[in-house]
Amino acid sequence: MSHAKNFYAGPSVLPVSVLEEIQKDMVDYKGSGLSLIETSHRSAEYGQVHKNAMNLVREIFGVPDNFKILFIGGGATLQFSMIPLNFLSGGKTCDFTLTGTWSKKAYADAKKVGNVNVVYDGKDNSYTRLPDPSTLKASPGSSYFHITSNETIGGIQWKDWPDTGDVPIICDMSSDIMSRPIPFEKFGMIYAGAQKNLGPSGFAVVIIRDDMLEKCNPNMTAFLDYKVHAEKESLYNTPPVFSIYAMSLVLEKVKAEGGLKEVEKRNKEKSKLIYDVMDKSNGFYKSPVDVSVRSDMNVVFTMANEELEKEFVAQAKAKQMVGLKGHVSVGGCRASIYNSLPLSDVVALVEFMQEFQKAKS
Ligand SMILES: *Cc1c(COP(=O)(O)O)cnc(C)c1O
Repeated sequence: MSHAKNFYAGPSVLPVSVLEEIQKDMVDYKGSGLSLIETSHRSAEYGQVHKNAMNLVREIFGVPDNFKILFIGGGATLQFSMIPLNFLSGGKTCDFTLTGTWSKKAYADAKKVGNVNVVYDGKDNSYTRLPDPSTLKASPGSSYFHITSNETIGGIQWKDWPDTGDVPIICDMSSDIMSRPIPFEKFGMIYAGAQKNLGPSGFAVVIIRDDMLEKCNPNMTAFLDYKVHAEKESLYNTPPVFSIYAMSLVLEKVKAEGGLKEVEKRNKEKSKLIYDVMDKSNGFYKSPVDVSVRSDMNVVFTMANEELEKEFVAQAKAKQMVGLKGHVSVGGCRASIYNSLPLSDVVALVEFMQEFQKAKS
C-alpha cells in the first residue's frame, strides 16, 4: 500500500518514517514491555521522552534562556481563552491585528474578557493582504499585541514584525511554527497547536518569556495558569503523552536534516513551484492573495467556477492527492504543504495542475 500525498490543513502530514517508528514501538516501547501510551507519565520512560521533546524544541528553535517551553493540552483554541484570562482580566487593554479567520476567533474570545483595540482590520481587502509592519503601533499601556503569523484558511503569512516597543507581541504560530527561524527578541509569547507542523493533535506548544509569567492573573484556576505549567515543567497533570512522543520524533528528524534554516529553504522551494505554475497559467489558476504575503504553508487558489474546482479535487484524489478542497468558509482549493510534505509530492501536484489545465483549455 502506498501512502497518499497529504495536502490536508490539519491534522496534517507526518513523515512516513515517523509513523513507522511509532508503529514499531507501539506495543513494546523500547523493550520496556509496555506501550508508552499505557505507561505512567511519572515513569522514567515517559520522563525521558518529555525532557527530550523540550530540549529539542529549545535547541531547534533557538529558544533563549529567559523563555519557558510549555506543552498545554487543548490546542490553540484554548490559548484564545488562556491569553486574555491571564493578561487582560481586571479592565486591561490589548491590541489586535485582524487578518483572517483565526485572528478573528482569538479576538472574539479576548473581547469577552477585556478591552481590545483593533490596530488593523483587513476586512476591506477580504483578508487578502497584510499591513506594512512598520506602520503599526501598539497603544500605550496595552498588555499585549496579538498577531497570527500565518492565516491557515486565507493563505496569508507575515514576513516581518512590527516594532511595538515595551508592549509584548503574542503570536499564534499554529500553522507555520518550525517552518522558519523565529526571532525571539520580537516576541513575549508564541503559541501553536501541534497538529500542523509539529505532530498529532492534542496540545499546544507555548513559549513564554519569564517576565510575562510574572504578569499572569494571580487568581487563575490551576490548569489555566501559565505559572503552574511552567513550575511543574508541563507535568502538573497528565500531558498528552502520545502526541508529545510523536512530536519528539518529528523534531529529531528536523534536527538531523539541518534545522530551521534548511527547513525554510525547502519550504520556499516547495511553495514557489506551485505559485510559479499559477502565475504562468494565464489566469486558469488564480490566487486571491497579495503576492508579497503569500503563505509558504497554505497555498490557496481558485478556478473559473466551482464545477471545475470540484473536478480538480476529485481527479487529484483519484491520483492519491488528498485534502485539496479549500476551507468551507472560503471555497476554492488549498494545498497545505507543511514541513513534512516531501518535495516530490509537490512536484506531483504541479504536474497534475499543468495536465488538468491542458485538458480543460
Ligand atoms: C488550526 C489553527 C488554530 C486552531 O487550533 P486548535 O488546535 O484546533 O485549537 C488556531 N490558529 C491557527 C492559525 C490555526 O491554523
